[in-house]
Amino acid sequence: VIESKKEVIRDDVFWGYKKNRILDRLRLDDKVAYVTGGGQGIGRAFAHALGEAGAKVAVVDLVLAKAEAVVCELNLKGIKSIALAADVSKPEDVHRIVDTIVARWGTIDIACNNAGINMNSASEDTSLEEWDKTFNVNLRGLFLCCQAAGRIMLNQGYGKIINTASMASLIVPHPQKQLAYNASKAGVVKLTQTLGTEWIDRGVKVNCISPGIVDTPLIHSPELRPLVQRWLADIPAARLARVTDLQAAVVYLASEASDYMTGHNLVIEGGQSLW
Ligand code: NAD
Repeated sequence: VIESKKEVIRDDVFWGYKKNRILDRLRLDDKVAYVTGGGQGIGRAFAHALGEAGAKVAVVDLVLAKAEAVVCELNLKGIKSIALAADVSKPEDVHRIVDTIVARWGTIDIACNNAGINMNSASEDTSLEEWDKTFNVNLRGLFLCCQAAGRIMLNQGYGKIINTASMASLIVPHPQKQLAYNASKAGVVKLTQTLGTEWIDRGVKVNCISPGIVDTPLIHSPELRPLVQRWLADIPAARLARVTDLQAAVVYLASEASDYMTGHNLVIEGGQSLW
């Protein structure tokens, strides 16, 4: 009887304690985040989501003007943010942005490695240049960012890394010609799983999000546009994903609510990979 009373009290304290209210645990107040490829599309939506949840956000993009435009949008919402130019495939650029963020805000708590490119050519015609370019941005760039941000996080014993993979890491939407892209995104998942298990006992969680086909400038290239119509027929949700469909996922993975989760590939694709 005494034991069960203790349990009741403990249980009551747990559920009544403010820190355990789920919406509080999703807040990112005072956290420092960056988003690569944050100048448009999914990265822009991630920057807004993290900022709205309370984080300060460094918007990183190859094109500074795009990052600056997003910072203007964030400023209008009262979100503290800075715009930084970087090519994530270049180690010197990655180290410069990490150093700049730490100099400005003291640390990095949330690293959102989202920059990625997609090229489209038949596998037999894929050039080494195309292969290298895709892997340099999608996988080498992601590795450089994970390592640079990860070192800071390991030092402080806390951090959340969220990589953008793709449904293409799991299935091959037919018809399509994205050998290098698909292979690089499968690499993102394996890199995420490996870092996720290696670093979890030092407080750093590494997960990835695999979107299906998202309505962003990426899929409106002249080569991809005709394919998108075909793919649409294979989406049980009967529509493309919107960037807003992905926003809660990034906040969850960036927050303490997902502390027991690492190396996970969170697939958000309207059911497309299931049939
Ligand atoms: P997007 O092309 O609309 O935006 C990508 C942004 O990344 C651009 O602002 C671009 O300037 C920037 N960028 C490109 N190369 C860079 C580099 N080397 N360094 C820094 N920034 C760079 O793309 P998106 O649709 O928003 O895709 C974002 C991520 O989501 C990518 O990794 C992509 O592979 C992935 N993804 C997209 C879809 C989709 O259907 N749109 C589906 C699954 C996964």
